[in-house]
Amino acid sequence: MKYRDTRDPSRIVSFRTAVLQGMDPVTGGLYVPEEIPALPKPFLTRNLAPSFRDVALETARPFVGDEMSEGELMALIADAYPFTAPISPIDPTTYVLELFHGPTCAFKDFGARFMARAMAHFNRDEKDSLHILVATSGDTGSAVGSAFHGVSGIDVTILYPRGKISPLQEKQLSTFDGNVRSLSVEGTFDDCQKLVKTAFTDDGLRGKLRLSSANSINISRLLPQSFYYTYGALLIRDRGRYDNNIDSPQLIVTVPSGNFGNLTSGLIARKMGAPIRGFIAATNSNRTVPDWLSSGDYKARPSVATLSNAMDVGAPSNFERMESLMSLEEARSMMAGYWLDDSGTMEGIRSCHERTGYIIDPHGAVAWRAWDDARSGGMAALLEGKTNGPGQPGLAGTAATAPEWARDCADRKCVGLILETAHPAKFGETVREAIGREPSIPDRLEKVLHLPDRSQPLRNDYGDFKEWLLANLG
Ligand SMILES: *Cc1c(COP(=O)(O)O)cnc(C)c1O
Repeated sequence: MKYRDTRDPSRIVSFRTAVLQGMDPVTGGLYVPEEIPALPKPFLTRNLAPSFRDVALETARPFVGDEMSEGELMALIADAYPFTAPISPIDPTTYVLELFHGPTCAFKDFGARFMARAMAHFNRDEKDSLHILVATSGDTGSAVGSAFHGVSGIDVTILYPRGKISPLQEKQLSTFDGNVRSLSVEGTFDDCQKLVKTAFTDDGLRGKLRLSSANSINISRLLPQSFYYTYGALLIRDRGRYDNNIDSPQLIVTVPSGNFGNLTSGLIARKMGAPIRGFIAATNSNRTVPDWLSSGDYKARPSVATLSNAMDVGAPSNFERMESLMSLEEARSMMAGYWLDDSGTMEGIRSCHERTGYIIDPHGAVAWRAWDDARSGGMAALLEGKTNGPGQPGLAGTAATAPEWARDCADRKCVGLILETAHPAKFGETVREAIGREPSIPDRLEKVLHLPDRSQPLRNDYGDFKEWLLANLG
């Protein structure tokens, strides 16, 4: 498979180049596959749903092409995924896809672990180490640090704003050892990002060290996220009959979104043949994409802080990819847009727990509310011409922009799959405020609370940062 640049389609690169470069160095565009391959029919119609690893291998194979052998790809997948994405039915027409069973308890583990191993594979014949620099305000840093931990030939330096992230997140970032180091910067997230960006464009540094980034725009983080969509959809098709007497479910997947990498992966899975009827793109008050779906105008804006902070993105970087994969009309026919404010999010955590017993985190709660509103009257109201006003949370758009599956959803013929992107214990405070009790904390999260802080302090000064890099990485 070859990959093309979203900004200049004449720029075509190999998988290796797309993985090692991340984005096009000249245009600043992102890489997308030249075509979306179809999964083999016998694979999709098997009697027993395939295992997560089978889905991963079948999905990844055409994207990797002959740039890795079958055995290498299988070994990579087995090493990356000692965990899977279980589904949990919470009411007669709702399933939750739990994406928090990886080491850092958020869905970003799926992408980061594949990317780390793909980078290591393509870097193995180089004699110098590859140094990854990441600035983070939370989940990304720990997923990337954990994914590269112990991977040979590559080291990671994480920069985070000291005291400006949650105590649990700070613990997750500051307790790595070995090839992953963290610098606690006396400044904001933007300061951290600026230090990293300056290093990337510093010719003096680039001549001495091989630097790379590992941010969410890397195609090798995006592709593996499509594994769990196909896996979950096939499992539901298999189980629906036993769980709730549902034959051939019309599956609507609700994705709590920020940078829209996760949803883009879902669009890819659907194009490859995963039995998914449509999507709900659910956001918090950062509603750039729901607004785009309803008005047709894309307006990036500054982000606002919310309870589902991993989705606080006003200018989603993967919008460019979504647009290059489909037109506005296609997007509208497949996807509904929905947004929710913080009080709605609290209400979502509460109503999910009260009605189903399931404890959901603030990101998943946005998805739960979106799906629950759509199936129980919201979509029917939209089709009858009752639209939400511009400043009003809820389903975006009008009857004219409603997806092609809107009627079936209003008639309660659809089944919902909600993506739960983080373990609720990562947001214990918010959950406790909503339901009066704290979720139990998984062992792997508990463990980091007792590890020593190994981060090194750094002043917000590029000269200091450069000196540190040369002294510690050279
Ligand atoms: C990153 C993140 C999201 C948003 O995912 P995108 O791919 O950026 O849309 C949602 N929930 C959690 C918990 C996250 O960490």
